[in-house]
Amino acid sequence: MLRITELKLPLDHAPEELNVAIAAYLGVPEQDIRQVIVFKRSYDARKGMMNLAYIVDIDVANEARLLARFKSDKHVMPTPDTQYHYVGQAPENLERRPVVVGFGPCGIFAALLLAQMGFKPIVLERGKKVRERTKDTWGLWRKNVLNPESNVQFGEGGAGTFSDGKLYSQIKDPRHLGRKVLTEFVKAGAPEEILYVAKPHIGTFRLVSMVEKMRADIEALGGEIRFQQRVVDIHMEDGPDGRKVARGLTLASGEQIRADHIVLALGHSARDSFEMLHGHGVYMEAKPFSVGFRIEHPQTLIDKARWGKYAGHPLLGAADYKLVHHASNGRAVYSFCMCPGGQVVAATSEEGRVVTNGMSQYSRAERNANSGLVVSISPDDYPGDPLAGIAFQRELESRAYVLGGGTYEAPAQLVGDFLAGRPSTQVGSVPPSYQPGVHWTDLAGALPDYCIEAMREALPEFGKKIRGYDMHDAVLTGVETRTSSPLRITRGDDCQSLNVRGLYPAGEGAGYAGGILSAGVDGIKVAEAVAQAILDERR
Ligand code: FAD
Repeated sequence: MLRITELKLPLDHAPEELNVAIAAYLGVPEQDIRQVIVFKRSYDARKGMMNLAYIVDIDVANEARLLARFKSDKHVMPTPDTQYHYVGQAPENLERRPVVVGFGPCGIFAALLLAQMGFKPIVLERGKKVRERTKDTWGLWRKNVLNPESNVQFGEGGAGTFSDGKLYSQIKDPRHLGRKVLTEFVKAGAPEEILYVAKPHIGTFRLVSMVEKMRADIEALGGEIRFQQRVVDIHMEDGPDGRKVARGLTLASGEQIRADHIVLALGHSARDSFEMLHGHGVYMEAKPFSVGFRIEHPQTLIDKARWGKYAGHPLLGAADYKLVHHASNGRAVYSFCMCPGGQVVAATSEEGRVVTNGMSQYSRAERNANSGLVVSISPDDYPGDPLAGIAFQRELESRAYVLGGGTYEAPAQLVGDFLAGRPSTQVGSVPPSYQPGVHWTDLAGALPDYCIEAMREALPEFGKKIRGYDMHDAVLTGVETRTSSPLRITRGDDCQSLNVRGLYPAGEGAGYAGGILSAGVDGIKVAEAVAQAILDERR
């Protein structure tokens, strides 16, 4: 097939105009075009005009002649191979099955790929199946009751299950592994459009049934998925090369499982597991992350600022945004995990702590836009051992719990009051969406002074980019602390821990992903590394 990039058509073009435009570009009659596949569709807003920009793959007569004719046109090329190719197949008589700890996006894709290659993985997930987990999650949102083992962070589907389901990432992906993730999601019930729209999202409702479908696929391929199975210990032996060698693990029930290949897809909230690994001397290091608040505005304000006269167009949907400000105290303040038409959610996994995040449904039809508004911090801000970032997070989350009144309500403040340095006492024109509710207060004490200073400087600057962003009644809700893992469980090129062979730290918790798509991609990479290691051992 032949690919054309940057083919532009007006926002409201009729479907048949795409073929007309392709034929005109290539200078061929329309009947020569046998098939058109839209590989990507994005928006191009310039000079007050809104166009759709396409990348299309075309099955066309005389392809070789056309490619020769357009040799010097950088927008015409042979379609690259974006198919996924497996690294191998499991041997018939596999002695010990690989184990995947955690069934979030990283663990799901590690297990799925291992299953597809015939390795019949065993998955151990501390939380419950997604439907039961949903009830527990709503328990916190509706009844102020937290289940520390079954919540927004823990359970089938991982941290991204109750989310906006944004599926894009800025990772380098020369092998098109992201395409494999999206293709599997479509097979599991995601809308086809995620394969071609520039910023795909799924929303919470669909994610739940997709996760169930992927579980069924893994099981059908001989994988075994066990819920409410918290891993509490790893067994290791001394290896011949000075490194340790992983030999198995212990569950909270006391059961012991022998394993030579253990994928640790723990997510960033598995603080007890990080402590256990650190206690065993598994190499890890502190890494930078960010902390801040959630901010809410009327979605109409964001739509108008971003789309202008096109606001409300059905193809455009609810607008998102991305903002960055480099503050004079050296901190970067930026928007994080923006959720158009969504709601702010309670995302703690520990008792006596408050954590915010955001989610939405596929329709993104709620009245508020929300986003993390976060400030970069580094290990210099929390010196100590590799676990010091966790202590720092816990301190802020506990403070937020107290500021929120000690009932899992979140502390909140209007932007106008935050900028003026006075506490808020009541809601303005933007009703906060956080459940189980907010407690109006002064957020200045919720974060270190350098964060508050940087945010106070950034908000008016953001108001210049999105008119009304610093409006008095916009709502800040605290605290957003789990933006990424505060540590990295460093691994080598073989994806194994630097000092424990057979241990494969993976995904967001290990510091190798940030978001659903990149966690899925990392799951694939690690599954490949496990498969390769098992096959190499048998040579
Ligand atoms: P996780 O998804 O955290 O999965 C880790 C799993 O391991 C969990 O299920 C946990 O229960 C399990 N586990 C931990 N310890 C143990 C143990 N000792 N034994 C057994 N099991 C264990 N990202 C996006 O790209 N788009 C979004 O729109 C988006 N929205 C989000 C909204 C919310 C509310 C949240 C919380 C996150 C959101 N994210 C989003 C981030 C995204 O969810 C994560 O980046 C992603 O889930 C990381 O995947 P993971 O598999 O590495 O870890």
